[in-house]
Amino acid sequence: MNTNKHIGRFAPSPTGRMHLGNVYAALFSWLSVKSKGGEWLLRIEDLDPQRSRKEYALMAEEDLRWLGLEWDLGGTERRGESDISYTQSERGEIYEAHLRLLRDAGLTYPCYCTRADIMATQAPHETDGRIVYAGTCRPDNRGEHGSERRTDRAAATRLIVPDENICFVDQHYGPQQVNLANHCGDFVVRRSDGAWAYQLAVVVDDALMGVTEVVRGCDLLLSCAQQIYLYRLLGYSTPAFGHIPLLCNEAGQRLSKRDKSLDMSVLREQYTPEQLLGLIAYTTGQTDKMEPLSTNELMTIFDWNKLPAENIILGC
Ligand code: GLU
Ligand code: ZN
Repeated sequence: MNTNKHIGRFAPSPTGRMHLGNVYAALFSWLSVKSKGGEWLLRIEDLDPQRSRKEYALMAEEDLRWLGLEWDLGGTERRGESDISYTQSERGEIYEAHLRLLRDAGLTYPCYCTRADIMATQAPHETDGRIVYAGTCRPDNRGEHGSERRTDRAAATRLIVPDENICFVDQHYGPQQVNLANHCGDFVVRRSDGAWAYQLAVVVDDALMGVTEVVRGCDLLLSCAQQIYLYRLLGYSTPAFGHIPLLCNEAGQRLSKRDKSLDMSVLREQYTPEQLLGLIAYTTGQTDKMEPLSTNELMTIFDWNKLPAENIILGC
């Protein structure tokens, strides 16, 4: 691994066709790292076996190519015999080895509760509602209930978190501090059905793939604290974090796969790649008039400081 290199990444979950919000996140991670002369990596975050489909990953690749966003590393195709997999569903052994380290250090415990682990493979975008785990199954809390924990269902694995502030500086949102005990409590690193949790996989992957900067939607800003805690426990250095405001519909909700009129199958019929890039550039404050732009033109004018902090409401 080249340690001087800047490596950024885009990490889509292939649970539907990409929409404008995904394209914008892809574009900003590309711009941020490419404007430094770095490399851009594409990782497929298909941790949830029920919701992920290979065909959506392939479509995402096709949509990125259509836009002119070529990745230097990763993607669904292995580039050579020795290339690692950049698809999370193929990286289970690596996550297992890291979980073993945490388990051997006495930092994890089995949890038989039913709710939060259902959400755990998904990145906890804030609009999805956050659950603070009360520590019910923590070894020191088990008491009389603990000895008779149910064995008729499989356990999720939780990581013990400290009751202290984790501090970090986001490139766009500035200094942050999060107390994990209040923010989420002991969190799931492996679901009871065996699926790997987003928080563990994202840290292991970003660390092992040499990612130096993480650029993504600001609904994941506070997740950094969970991730930084994991980086520390696993002995990896933390990348730089730069979160971007969300694109929202008129109701003020983050764009999602439900906003069908903004999905790539529709957008590609309405716009050329340059028009779509120009639209995103204008909407995000990069330009003051709406005009078609190529990826390279956009790179020369790209400026983090022009990006607003507040979420961006689309009036379409
Ligand atoms: N896979 C996540 C998503 O689609 C992105 C997670 C990340 O960038 O850390 O929203
Ligand atoms: Zn529990």
